[in-house]
Amino acid sequence: MAFEYAPAPESRSVVDIAPSYGLFVDGEFTDPVDGGWRDTVNPATEEVLSKVADAGPADVRRAVQAARTAYEQVWGPMPGRERAKYLYRIARLIQERSRELAVLETLDNGKPIRESRDVDLPLVAAHFFYHAGWADKLEYAGLGPRPRPLGVAAQVIPWNFPLLMLAWKVAPALACGNTVVLKPAETTPLTALAFADICRQADLPPGVVNILTGAGETGRLLVEDPDVDKVAFTGSTEVGRQIMRTLAGTGTRLTLELGGKAANVVFDDAPIDQAVEGIVNGIYFNQGHVCCAGSRLLVQESVADELLASLKRRLATLRLGDPLDKNTDIGAINSAAQLARISELTAAGDDEGAERWTAPCELPDRGYWFPPTIFTGVTQAHRIAREEIFGPVLSVLTFRTPEEAVEKANNTPYGLSAGIWTEKGSRILWMAQRLRAGVVWANTFNRFDPTSPFGGYKESGFGREGGIAGLAAYLESSEVAS
Ligand code: NAD
Ligand code: MG
Repeated sequence: MAFEYAPAPESRSVVDIAPSYGLFVDGEFTDPVDGGWRDTVNPATEEVLSKVADAGPADVRRAVQAARTAYEQVWGPMPGRERAKYLYRIARLIQERSRELAVLETLDNGKPIRESRDVDLPLVAAHFFYHAGWADKLEYAGLGPRPRPLGVAAQVIPWNFPLLMLAWKVAPALACGNTVVLKPAETTPLTALAFADICRQADLPPGVVNILTGAGETGRLLVEDPDVDKVAFTGSTEVGRQIMRTLAGTGTRLTLELGGKAANVVFDDAPIDQAVEGIVNGIYFNQGHVCCAGSRLLVQESVADELLASLKRRLATLRLGDPLDKNTDIGAINSAAQLARISELTAAGDDEGAERWTAPCELPDRGYWFPPTIFTGVTQAHRIAREEIFGPVLSVLTFRTPEEAVEKANNTPYGLSAGIWTEKGSRILWMAQRLRAGVVWANTFNRFDPTSPFGGYKESGFGREGGIAGLAAYLESSEVAS
């Protein structure tokens, strides 16, 4: 049973949301020339938070040209040690404004304040600090003596970690001397616009960072712009494929990060209580809106009953509700569209014969919500074992031998991440060598660090973000260039 907790709401008064926001182009907020406007809502209440511009074709052209000019005249020629100063300044401003940014993120996205405050914002600042440190040391990154920036980077990001995905994209691009046109997701534009304000506060030269709000059409226009040198995309495999088709043969550099269906593998010698915490963190963190979520639990048959009983007991204690309450574990689903997708896929789980278990919790009357859910009796052919649900839904499969665990874990079109729970170090290494996944966690899950490269195999995409490998995505190595 969950304890009764008194409400502990974080104050909304630390954020000041304007009634409307234009596009951030060449250092100024401007109304769209040939675009439109759309509302952004708080998914926990369906309240309209603000009206945000939708960039049209002329707006996209203008932003890319501003980025081009800034690249050629200011940012590209600037010594790395000077660029570093701006990045350090941005990192410090993010820390100073972190409470405001965390509340804004929670309002626009629906994620619990505990996560935006303790996970997203510290990582956002860390990414800028880490890359600030690289800006004047790029010749030591192993990419030749004088690696060069690529030019203008077009970056399109999703709604699950709005400011963190911005940081993953913007920080390495700027550190390496590129300029940026970034398009946030249409349901979560507000922290990117707050970031635009931080760029102004940091006196970043105009045009180095441009923020174009809008939906898929704006994203399409941006990645198709002929003046773009590099595209970085995070989102669905379907859109990733489309972008790849568009850019094939153009010479534009591309990195794609496209989701996953990660196996979290629990062996019979694993500490069960720790594994339960890892499973919860793996799939119920951020409502399961996590590309590397541990959405498939592979548990060794001999401990499956015991583990599932513990897991259900633990899930019954999770608190779902007001994301601004500091005690909340599970916030709102980001949008009506995403809720519909989760409902459709879980209904397919019922139809295909898997058994659904739902954590006992009351859903608020307004907003978009989905309770923590487990499916047992899942087979590898089921849609809920193959497709990314991107919600708080765990599909459970069992295995008997390590070989069977590897085979089932790799039996997926994706390959972004995996988890291993066992006391045996040799088994961890044996498994890690065989799992086709970009990140493999051992006795933990969903840990992130700016020094550690992140990215996938197969339909999870290609290219790495973070660490030295992440710098390579924004640099031309000097051997190639000379
Ligand atoms: P999406 O791929 O449509 O959207 C991601 C971003 O791409 C958004 O900014 C969107 O505006 C933009 N976009 C859409 N169409 C575009 C186009 N043709 N050209 C350029 N940019 C375009 O994802 P979604 O519809 O929000 O979510 C659908 C599913 O995708 C989810 O259920 C989930 O499975 C997956 N997803 C994965 C990630 C991830 O981190 N890898 C993030 C979000 C969603
Ligand atoms: Mg929103």
